[in-house]
Amino acid sequence: MPRYSFVLPVHNEQETLAELYRRLAATAEGLDGDVELIFVDDGSTDDSFRILNDLHAQDPRVKVIRLSRNFGHQLAITAGTDRATGDAVVIMDADLQDPPELVPELIDRWREGFEVVYAVREAREGDGRVKRRVRELAYRVLRRLAAIDVPVDAGDFRLVDRKALDAFRSLRENNRYIRGMFAWVGFDQTGVVHRRPDRFAGKTKYSWGRLVKLGVDGVISFSDVPLRLTLAAGFLVSLSAFVFGIVTVILRVAGVGIVPGWASLVVLISFLGGVQLIVLGTMGLYVARIHEEVKARPLYVTREAVGFDAVAPPGAVEHEGRPFLERAP
Ligand code: UDP
Ligand code: MG
Repeated sequence: MPRYSFVLPVHNEQETLAELYRRLAATAEGLDGDVELIFVDDGSTDDSFRILNDLHAQDPRVKVIRLSRNFGHQLAITAGTDRATGDAVVIMDADLQDPPELVPELIDRWREGFEVVYAVREAREGDGRVKRRVRELAYRVLRRLAAIDVPVDAGDFRLVDRKALDAFRSLRENNRYIRGMFAWVGFDQTGVVHRRPDRFAGKTKYSWGRLVKLGVDGVISFSDVPLRLTLAAGFLVSLSAFVFGIVTVILRVAGVGIVPGWASLVVLISFLGGVQLIVLGTMGLYVARIHEEVKARPLYVTREAVGFDAVAPPGAVEHEGRPFLERAP
């Protein structure tokens, strides 16, 4: 009998948790194996943790990891997958935009032998039109730039086989673009198309700023095309400057159109200055990433973990010499 883990990152979702649990439990009824529901409380400031604790008291299949502060969606998922023990692990949002009812379909494809089964969004309801267009564009740009094949219009909602999950867990970079990392991991992958519903309650936690950061993380961690582009831009600008120089010499010799040249100088200087700033900025993006990784900090800090058997999961980085509060189930 297979064992299924569900990993659900939670940030201020108090209105949704009861309904989410009800639908997850209903889905679990129909499955052919054991289930564990791992909720990761990512620094919620509302009642989410208390509600999750109550759910655990009712149903020991519910386990809760409480992070010490808000680490963000991608790291919350990582905290959950680090402790998941299932043969197949389902990663899904806690706002019911990833409907639990799709999970049996994901499991069917897993049974057919696919190690990663991701949910593809057919249409995105609820989001603003502009946001949707930008998202679509971002995915396509990323697909173009990244050396690996990130599936277009797939979020983090997916089922992952133990083999692929272990490979993913071995990637400990700080700037995580999880859908890209799973693409990197390889194995046999497939998508299941579904209509993504609107949020059950509450507001999106992804502001424009966070969305842009996620997109930049995706590009920078999977592609060196921006760096190459700056090099190409450098060459292009030098070449034009060279041509411009020759042209002025010719004009001078021919004695035509000799004007004071103030305007062209200013244009050239500011243009070059701009190009240099762009090049520096692009390099800075990569250097900042290197700086992040070189510090080699743990990815997240756990405040407490409720309902897990082992005191410390094998290989969990957050335990290495760091204070950790564990509560008995
Ligand atoms: N989330 C989280 N930490 C954060 C932001 C979001 O754990 O800092 C969770 C959130 O509770 C939800 C999921 O990540 O379960 C997706 O977030 P959201 O629905 O706000 O993103 P969207 O669906 O709008 O892209
Ligand atoms: Mg959502």
